[in-house]
Amino acid sequence: MRVILPSLLLLALGSYWIAMASGSGSPLVTHWAYLAITAVPVAFVVARAVRCREQRLVWGALAVGLVLWTAGSVWQVGADSFGVSVASPGAVDVLWLSMYPCALVTFFALGRPWVQRAGGALALDAVTIMLVTASIVTALILPQLLANSGELTGFSQLVFCAYPVADCVLMAVALIGAAVAGRRAGAVWGLLAAGTVALVVGDIFWTTAAANGTWAPVMGSNALYPAWPVAAAIAAWRPLPAPRRAQATFTGVRANSAALVAVIAGLALLVLNEWLSLPAASVCLAALGLLAAVHRTGLALTGSVRASFAAHRDRELVDDVREALDAGELELHFQPLVDVRTGAVHGAEALLRWARMRPDEFLPAVERSELITPLTDWVLDRALAAAACWRADGHDLGVSVNLATANLGEFDLPARVIAALRRHGVPAAALTLEITETAAVEDSRVADEVLAALDAAGIAISIDDFGTGHSSLVRIARFPIREIKVDRSFVLDIHNAKLPIVATSVELAHALGLRIVAEGVEDEPTFALLRALGCDIAQGYHLSRPLAPADFAAWLQAASPAPVRAAEAARTG
Ligand code: C2E
Ligand code: CA
Ligand code: CA
Repeated sequence: MRVILPSLLLLALGSYWIAMASGSGSPLVTHWAYLAITAVPVAFVVARAVRCREQRLVWGALAVGLVLWTAGSVWQVGADSFGVSVASPGAVDVLWLSMYPCALVTFFALGRPWVQRAGGALALDAVTIMLVTASIVTALILPQLLANSGELTGFSQLVFCAYPVADCVLMAVALIGAAVAGRRAGAVWGLLAAGTVALVVGDIFWTTAAANGTWAPVMGSNALYPAWPVAAAIAAWRPLPAPRRAQATFTGVRANSAALVAVIAGLALLVLNEWLSLPAASVCLAALGLLAAVHRTGLALTGSVRASFAAHRDRELVDDVREALDAGELELHFQPLVDVRTGAVHGAEALLRWARMRPDEFLPAVERSELITPLTDWVLDRALAAAACWRADGHDLGVSVNLATANLGEFDLPARVIAALRRHGVPAAALTLEITETAAVEDSRVADEVLAALDAAGIAISIDDFGTGHSSLVRIARFPIREIKVDRSFVLDIHNAKLPIVATSVELAHALGLRIVAEGVEDEPTFALLRALGCDIAQGYHLSRPLAPADFAAWLQAASPAPVRAAEAARTG
């Protein structure tokens, strides 16, 4: 379909054009071949919408529009071949004009990923192109329409003018689509854009002929119209690859370049006005187009100023954290991890503390900076030192340390972790490194190697905040992970809507042979429910808040052997 359909349609269109160019006045060519080369591709667009479930509604909208548009042509050209004239403006124009909103629905649905990402800027680029092309088109048609040698009524002038203007709207959106999609997905958008260009040119001839009084239902310039359904049919049957993440950066740049071309054209038109005395409406449209471009530039400027302010704030914050680290102002607190079945303390998660702000307020900036490497080393060192102390006091506990996504890109991370374990005499099995789901699914060879080396050293990898990211089960399953931590948002809501998520996570973890930890356990009913679900480890305020090292040691002493009872006793007493 991908090769045969375009070849056949282009061959048919080419043959029709050659027959028209050879001056054949036979109704077989001017009427029937015209209708055939219009209706057949439309049938393929309809077939695309009916036969393929993927993007059915997207192409369905265009199919509806094209069927109505073709019905208009069949009505008028068919009637003309029998010598009957169809009034225009009239019902036939309703059929033709219905195509525009339908095609716009398709265009917007196809461009939805970009519209969501860069909606405002893209819209302004499209408006710029729309206004400038409309100014060029009106510069071509308005002089004839105003001279009105065809003696059109005011209403007829309006209807005939509506076509090229609506074409400009369609073409501007398609051009932005083609510019943003680039070469990879360009065929679909490129075809749609080419089709709309044919519409614009065809309608300029149509309207000027009407204004000059030379209009006829069937004219040579009508030969341009079938290019639109042919392009639409080929586009409809081509695959449209999903935009890649890396493409996001180019989205704005490419669309902006297309708008820049429009700006140059608009400026040229305004300069030409000095000599050609263009219609006032065209000059206004070109000026409005330039205004839209100025507004777009203003938006881009504000965006980049805001980004540079944010980067500056981030740098200052990172500097403050670096100073705090050097000055010994950072601390580690420990939050117990409790075995749900036995109530015994299994270990603790090390959580960073700074008196000035919460970890999730300063860590994102640090994680984007190079400070994350020494900071992670410091956390590891402190956490393992604490674990060594607990173990020296006779508590066989493990410790969990959070890693940032960036840490997985460090080749020497396994060596540094192993050195820290040796330094403190803690066995590798007592250390768990928590990575987020997003870090886990990031497709990176270095991360794969780092995780494999940590696993080979006997260190457990845990997937933190499980359920909040977009991890693929296939990828998670092939990772060397030993633990899943279901996100606290699900556990906090376990008595309402989130029970199935927690229950499924427990089953999934056990089916994969993994340990499952529930964080955010704030009360006894939640703890009991987790026990009933078969969850392995619990963490949360119900058991204990994160504690300073000395408090944790005291809690440990009081909690042995059953922390749940001890936590209850601590609260009541
Ligand atoms: P996380 O890894 O999901 O850590 C658990 C968070 O849940 C901690 O917040 C903890 O205080 C909180 N929490 C524990 N039990 C409960 C509970 O029952 N209810 C509720 N509502 N919350 C509970 P915290 O300490 O503010 O840490 C926030 C995040 O900062 C952590 O989320 C982790 O992503 C990050 N973080 C903390 N320490 C480090 C670190 O040393 N290195 C790195 N890279 N990230 C860290
Ligand atoms: Ca964590
Ligand atoms: Ca978590």
